[in-house]
Amino acid sequence: WLADWQAPLRAQFPIIVAHPELVYLDSAATAQKPQAVLDAALTYLTTSNANAGRGTYPWANRTTELLERTRGRVKRFLGDPAPERSRVDFFSGATEGLRSVALDWLPRLLADGDEIIVPFGDHQANLLPWLEAQKLLAERGVHITVRELPCQAGSHDYDTEALARLAGPRTRFVAVTHVHHVYGADMNIHRVRAAVGPDVPICLDAAQSVGHLPLSLAELDVDLLVFSGHKTLALPGTGAVWSREARGPGFAPSGWRGTPNTVGVASLERALDWLDAADVGRVGEWTSALSARLTEGLRHLGQYEVLGCGRSLAADSEVQRRAGIVTFRHELIDSMDLGFILYSHGFMVRSDDHCQGYAGERDPSVRVSPHVYNTPEEIDRLLEVLAEL
Ligand code: PMP
Repeated sequence: WLADWQAPLRAQFPIIVAHPELVYLDSAATAQKPQAVLDAALTYLTTSNANAGRGTYPWANRTTELLERTRGRVKRFLGDPAPERSRVDFFSGATEGLRSVALDWLPRLLADGDEIIVPFGDHQANLLPWLEAQKLLAERGVHITVRELPCQAGSHDYDTEALARLAGPRTRFVAVTHVHHVYGADMNIHRVRAAVGPDVPICLDAAQSVGHLPLSLAELDVDLLVFSGHKTLALPGTGAVWSREARGPGFAPSGWRGTPNTVGVASLERALDWLDAADVGRVGEWTSALSARLTEGLRHLGQYEVLGCGRSLAADSEVQRRAGIVTFRHELIDSMDLGFILYSHGFMVRSDDHCQGYAGERDPSVRVSPHVYNTPEEIDRLLEVLAEL
């Protein structure tokens, strides 16, 4: 029955429909856009384009309203239980959002001798800004310790028992990732709050989960949440940081960062409407089913190592929990070559080292990340090509 649900949705992506010979499987990098999102962008540009907060005429007022409305829309989409006590700031993507948290807000929180705990093996956008903050503070004579968020041996989930031992009275901040961009794994973040206690701000990199899996701030218990609009079907150059006002960034007043990406915000508002109407829960079921199909297929082929599962792929649970992302290597063929070979068959995948932090994979690998517009037939065709190799 999910196929009946999916087909009309796929038909709404013009770039997908226009290229039946190609298969886009790089949605963890950025997602394709449905017609409604493209329309919203064009409508904004042809009816209201102006700068925000300069309200002496209707286009400017409409743009200001658009920004405010979309802040509320983001909160609703994230299941914010107390929207009157939170804020949303727009950025060009998750990287810029995390950098702003690290450089505009975090330094004000920290004093000499304080500690922060951050992941070393997740996306480098969730590591380098924290190290930069440490450097910046050191230049001002404030020396903080950056500790590695521990992962369980043999898997890439956070080791929350080790984290509980690591967190101490000087721990002032913890950064985590919701879904890993290489392993596709849900990182156990629901156990992080209990490990660090109620008073430590937690910042969640939700770049691979917002819009991909149902998610509710009421359940997550984090203080900041960062996501990419462009991976959430909005235009390139969009992203947002949600923050709890009590702990929140207290970013500089609006205008400080200059003219916002208003057309991007217009596209984000429509993208969230589109995803809600499509049902994010089903999107998650669909992409998980596609990634499970691929993982299972690779297990049968034998010559492929699926990262985060090991070579044996023994447990079915490991096959099931690749939430829309599968990354693998062939035992003989170089992964960069594999990327070119796959494109010669029309498949667009990601092959490189995937911007992982210090504790990441150094050898390139091939990442396949489907979205709502991909089909089981495409995965089967990919597996046929991979079998021929
Ligand atoms: N964090 C994670 C987990 C990601 O997957 C990505 C994108 N690859 C980013 C951060 C960076 O996001 P953006 O491209 O929006 O800057």
